[in-house]
Amino acid sequence: MPRRASSPGASHESPLVSEQSAAPGSADFPPADSPPADWDRALPFQLDTLGVRGRLVRLGPSLDAVIERHGYPLAVARPLAEAMVLAATLASSLKYDGVFTLQLSGDGPIRLLVTDVTSDGAVRGYAQHDQGALAAALGGDGEADAPDGYVPKLFGAGRLAFTVDQSQRTQRYQGIVPLEGPTLADCAHTYFRQSEQLPTGIKIVARREQAEGRTHWRAAALMVQQMPELDAGRIHHIDPDQREDDWRRAVILMASATEREMLDPALPGTTLLYRLFHEDGARLFERRAFQSRCRCSRQRVDTMLRSIGRTELATLRDVRGLVAVKCEFCSTSYDYGETDLDWLYKS
Ligand SMILES: [Zn+2]
Repeated sequence: MPRRASSPGASHESPLVSEQSAAPGSADFPPADSPPADWDRALPFQLDTLGVRGRLVRLGPSLDAVIERHGYPLAVARPLAEAMVLAATLASSLKYDGVFTLQLSGDGPIRLLVTDVTSDGAVRGYAQHDQGALAAALGGDGEADAPDGYVPKLFGAGRLAFTVDQSQRTQRYQGIVPLEGPTLADCAHTYFRQSEQLPTGIKIVARREQAEGRTHWRAAALMVQQMPELDAGRIHHIDPDQREDDWRRAVILMASATEREMLDPALPGTTLLYRLFHEDGARLFERRAFQSRCRCSRQRVDTMLRSIGRTELATLRDVRGLVAVKCEFCSTSYDYGETDLDWLYKS
């Protein structure tokens, strides 16, 4: 029987379902008494009796690091937080060695949103928005929260792209779909439908909260995905109706998780998964960690400037006459004076 999971190296096939079952990890299930470190983690699970696998991903400190640095208005910060947790969720479900990028672009107030996740768990993100257009879309001064179903209003007509850049040996994969549907999860569902993936359900929530006089961001995503028959351990004679019923049950249980539960810092992820799925043979796998980290460096900027050529740097010069290159992700500025440029361009 052929496997439907695709090879991550092939450019024409999506790698987003390529993860095979990992060996069970040491996660306690049912949950232990003391809550484990749950934030900035992916918690993969498998529902053996339903032939479904999934993950609960929760981001906290890594979001704070990105969003505080940029000082985005709420209606930009929440879509960014949701996009980052979606990217972390998809990245944690595929086998790759390199960078997974999720990009939303459109003609709305948020023109561009980019977030990427390396295979060792470094996450980063940024967004570009027009404050005037944002105020016009939201009313008032544009400082209100993004409305539910914000995609058409804030992104307009545009597209969602997933890219996997791996080491030189393998090709780049890119999947692109138009922005369709009111929520980011709807747009992701469109991708999974159009790319002939396995049936996939995703629920995404994000919220800014006040605690101990400080603002904290939390975002969570729950994803369930029908497993290829082989992985489900039920190789022969699967009743299609039963399989459809099993899938529906998994989606209904996933959707029954409330925003409050998903974002509750006092509720361990293992407890939430136990509540949702304990009747369905849930097994947990080893957690994967994420951390906020940018990959920019002076060396990379050197390489980029060399590729441009010295005579074409005029547009990059700031008021001081320095060539100034700012990283969009982390706002680090790399400045080059004439002496630096002499050194850079000497052959
Ligand atoms: Zn950077």
